[in-house]
Amino acid sequence: MTVSARVDIAVAGAGYTAFTAALALALALPQQRIALLCGTRREGEADPRVTALSASSREIFSQLGLWPELAARSEPIRDICVSERKAPLRARLGPAAGAPFGHVIENRDLAACLADAVTRLANIQCLPPAAGVPRFHAEGCAVPVADDDIETRLLVIAEGADSPLRGQLGIAVDVRDYGVSALLATVALAGPHRGLAHEHFTRDGPLALLPLPVRAGEERAALVWVLPRDRAGELAAAAPGLGLAALQAVLPPEAVAPVEMSPATAVPLRRVLTAEQVRSRLVVAGNAAHSLHPVAGQGFNLTVRDLAALAERLRVAGGDPGALPTLLDYARSREADQRRTRYFSEWLPALFASRALPVRLGRQLGLLGMDLVPPLRRVLTDFGAGLHAPAARVVDDADL
Ligand SMILES: Cc1cc2nc3c(=O)[nH]c(=O)nc-3n(C[C@H](O)[C@H](O)[C@H](O)COP(=O)(O)OP(=O)(O)OC[C@H]3O[C@@H](n4cnc5c(N)ncnc54)[C@H](O)[C@@H]3O)c2cc1C
Repeated sequence: MTVSARVDIAVAGAGYTAFTAALALALALPQQRIALLCGTRREGEADPRVTALSASSREIFSQLGLWPELAARSEPIRDICVSERKAPLRARLGPAAGAPFGHVIENRDLAACLADAVTRLANIQCLPPAAGVPRFHAEGCAVPVADDDIETRLLVIAEGADSPLRGQLGIAVDVRDYGVSALLATVALAGPHRGLAHEHFTRDGPLALLPLPVRAGEERAALVWVLPRDRAGELAAAAPGLGLAALQAVLPPEAVAPVEMSPATAVPLRRVLTAEQVRSRLVVAGNAAHSLHPVAGQGFNLTVRDLAALAERLRVAGGDPGALPTLLDYARSREADQRRTRYFSEWLPALFASRALPVRLGRQLGLLGMDLVPPLRRVLTDFGAGLHAPAARVVDDADL
C-alpha cells in the first residue's frame, strides 16, 4: 500500500473524545501534525443526550480556548437537590456561591463547537476513517485508510465503547451489562428552573432532571431516567404523554412541573473497561477505554481530564509522541482519578437501588449529613466537579 500521509499523531474516531483529543494535542504540540481519522461521520447530530460539563472540564476547555463558545450554549447548574422516593429528607448542595456546579450542554451543540474548533487549527487535518488493522513497527504505525496507509508515530483510539480497532489489536475488555437503560427526553417546564438540577432516586432507578437553556421562550430540562430495560423500552415506544405522566408521578415537590415531553429514547447501559490503555505507539481513550454508568455524569469529564494529562505529558516530554516511557507515565498518572471516578459512578446508583432497611436508613442519614455538614457536602460537590484531581496544563503557562 502507498503512504498517503505522514503525521505525528493519528486520532481514530468521530465522537467527543476524538475531537477533544485532536484539539488538546494540536494546541499542546503546535509543531506536530495531527490527523483526525473521522471521515464525514459526526457524533452528535442525532445524539439525544446532554452532557453536564464539570468545573474540571470548564478549566480545561478554557485552556483550549473553547469555553466561551461552550458556555454560550449551555445552562449553568446553580443548585442541586438530591432526594429519594417517599423520603422526607432532601439534600440541597447549593446554591453555588461562586462558580456553578456544572454546565449542561446538548450533545449536538457540544459536537458542533468541537467540530468548528478543529477546522480552525492548521496542524489538524481530517482524513478518512481507519479501514483495517494498524501495523506497528519500531518507529510508528501504518493505519490503513481507504486504499492507502497513514503513517503515524502515535495512534490514539477514540472510537467509543464498541471500538473496532481495539478489538482488531486484541486488547481485552471487561464488559458488565447493568441490565438497565437510560430513558432520555427533553421536557418543557411550567415555570423557570432557576438552574436547579434534580438527582432523584425513584423506586425503579435514579433520575436526573438537568436545566437546559431557554429555547424559543420555553423553559426546558433534560431527563435522564435509569430504568429496568423493559420499562424504559415501553416508555420510549409509548406516546410522550405516557412518559410525561410517569415522570409527573415520581418527581419531588421541589421540581418545577413538566408539562410536555419530547419523544423519548432508551439507551442500554453497560460498563466497558479495557485491560490496557497504552502500548508502545498506542493510546486508548474515552469510552473505548472506560465507559461508565452515566448517573453521576462523569464519563466525558473524566475523559477530558485524561486527554489534558496526555497532552501535558507529551508536551513536557517533547520528542517522539509514541515513546512507551512517556505513555506509561501518562497511564500511571491517570490511575487514581480513573479508579475513584469509576467507584463513584458505580457506588451512587448501587447505594440508592437497595431496598434493605439498614441501607435506606443509612441513605437518609447521608442526605441529612449532606444537608447539615458543609464539609461533607463540599467533598461530594468537589468530587462531582472533578476538583479532587489537579487539572493538567495542556499549554505552557507562558503561552497563556
Ligand atoms: C445517557 C448518558 C448520559 C451521559 N451524561 C454524561 C454527563 O452528563 N457528563 C459526562 O461527563 N458524561 C456523560 N456521559 C458519558 C459520555 O456520553 C461519554 O463519555 C462520551 O460519549 C464518550 O465519547 P467517545 O467519543 O469516547 O465515544 P462515543 O460517544 O461512543 O463516540 C465514538 C464515535 O466514534 C465513531 N467511530 C467508531 N469507529 C470509528 C472509526 N473507525 N472511525 C471513525 N469513527 C468511528 C462512532 O460511530 C462514534 O460516533 C453520558 C453517557 C450516557 C449514555
